[in-house]
Amino acid sequence: MRLDKLLANMGFGSRKDVKESLKKKYVTVNDNTVKDGSMHIDTATDIVKVLGETIRYQKYVYLMMNKPPGFISATADRSERTVIDIVNKDYQHFNPFPVGRLDKDTEGLLLLTNDGELAHQLTSPKKDVSKTYFAKIDGNVTETDILKFKAGVVLEDGYKAKPAHLCILSAGHTSEVKVTITEGKYHQVKRMFEAVDKKVTHLKRLRMGSLTLDENLEQGGYRELNRQELEYCL
Ligand code: URA
Repeated sequence: MRLDKLLANMGFGSRKDVKESLKKKYVTVNDNTVKDGSMHIDTATDIVKVLGETIRYQKYVYLMMNKPPGFISATADRSERTVIDIVNKDYQHFNPFPVGRLDKDTEGLLLLTNDGELAHQLTSPKKDVSKTYFAKIDGNVTETDILKFKAGVVLEDGYKAKPAHLCILSAGHTSEVKVTITEGKYHQVKRMFEAVDKKVTHLKRLRMGSLTLDENLEQGGYRELNRQELEYCL
């Protein structure tokens, strides 16, 4: 990879900024000052330093976010705030995108990455990746609903949802449940409850595949996946 591209990718400004740094002799490769941005760098063996600090090249970024309500799962939007707006400048140069979608009012686990292959693995309908949500429901969720979810409820457009696991945490006039699905259709959980004449009033994703939401992340908080999480994911 070209030296100027590597530095730009790692957040050292635009190509123009990088050119300036090179001109000012801020950059060394294997301890030799380099002013030529077109120099080819072997990211596995060459040691690049800026003002004496070693740059560890990282191609992909994997961020776990506790998505807050009020943000859309997109990279950019003219009128709405997006989850990418939350990610600070340190990560924006990676061009991360959200893996799958959570509704604007849904909270919880959202993975942001620039690894298209992993995103595909996690969202492809063929992979049946399970997703667990905590939901508050307007209505009394019953054992009958558990059986209906297990058999696969029929949504309003006639689509029969794949079997889902419903666990009742509390029930009454309103209920709290955990629901695990293996699909990611538009408004899937909300529509599944509508199919049994109930309304989701709060939805939070807790788990996706092997990834569990870090409870220490406040709403809008995010962090890089740790080694173990990455190993399970990749
Ligand atoms: N199901 C929904 O209805 N909404 C979400 O955001 C995720 C799953």
